[in-house]
Amino acid sequence: MSDLDLEMRRMLCSTSLGYTAYHVWAQQARRERRFNIARLLEASSNVKRIKSEVAFRSLGEVGPTAQNIERALAGLEPATVATGPVTGTSTISRSLMTRAARALDAGRDLNADELGDLYVCGTCGEMMEGAPPPFCPVCNTVHEGFLSFRAAEAMGALGPQSIVKKLEHTSATLHALVDGLSEDCLSRRPTRGYSLKELVGHLADMDAVFRERAWLILETEQPRLPSAHPPTLAKATVYQHMPIGEMMEIFQNTRQQTLGLLRGLTAAAWHRTGHHEVFGTIPLTHQGNWVISHERAHLVEMAQIRHDLLTQLDETHPLQLQNRLFQRS
Ligand SMILES: [Zn+2]
Repeated sequence: MSDLDLEMRRMLCSTSLGYTAYHVWAQQARRERRFNIARLLEASSNVKRIKSEVAFRSLGEVGPTAQNIERALAGLEPATVATGPVTGTSTISRSLMTRAARALDAGRDLNADELGDLYVCGTCGEMMEGAPPPFCPVCNTVHEGFLSFRAAEAMGALGPQSIVKKLEHTSATLHALVDGLSEDCLSRRPTRGYSLKELVGHLADMDAVFRERAWLILETEQPRLPSAHPPTLAKATVYQHMPIGEMMEIFQNTRQQTLGLLRGLTAAAWHRTGHHEVFGTIPLTHQGNWVISHERAHLVEMAQIRHDLLTQLDETHPLQLQNRLFQRS
């Protein structure tokens, strides 16, 4: 193995590990609602991904697809080598991570004015902060070839139509998730986490937060969006003893009001902005993506809870299951 080959193998191992590490850390930061830090980690993950792809290609590991499939079947087994540190390896990375560490020490996310938009060169993986230069300072790739990690897009890229469609769909999904389960089942908390009732209540609470922000953006000039933390799940205990029918009505009412506000808005209206301490100056579409990504995560969680509840029921009360199936058909 030549020195260059050895260096490339070291790069491949180091950047592949770095890619996975940053990517999973980004997922965790999102779970902890540290959205700017998540954006920084996701950009860092892409730096590593691009560098590992460059190394993999330059090692001659990529041929025509027929050959790649053959190699895949044969079980690719590159020589592994000691890598040294795999993260925090560049000056810009260390500077950004240090900022994140300071914010976390203060128990918060990075604020919008503490982390600019991030760009990663799609060719060489160079990371840049702030307004992007016309071409990459390292490899001359034009800025059209950069990946962007901008605060305004960090919540997702759904447009107005998709946002409204998804918001319309949630009630039906919720109905299917609670269908056929007894009040007792719906109030049952899994070992870790919340009951289905608490989650329905939480989604209703968050819909109201979203609607208030949307209203401010639409009806006032450059509003400061309430930075008070949205109602957390811990506050949803009040819903534990409410009949599910009533709760579904609460959700449907708030959602109908929200949809009433959003339906038929012009593209210009969707691009009106407000200022949020953490997200920065963001358009209404950002907040639409925010509420949908939040909802999606909880709907997955609820589907899992339902599945687990049904499995438990099957094991303990086969007769109840039969009754339930009978009632449904
Ligand atoms: Zn470059």
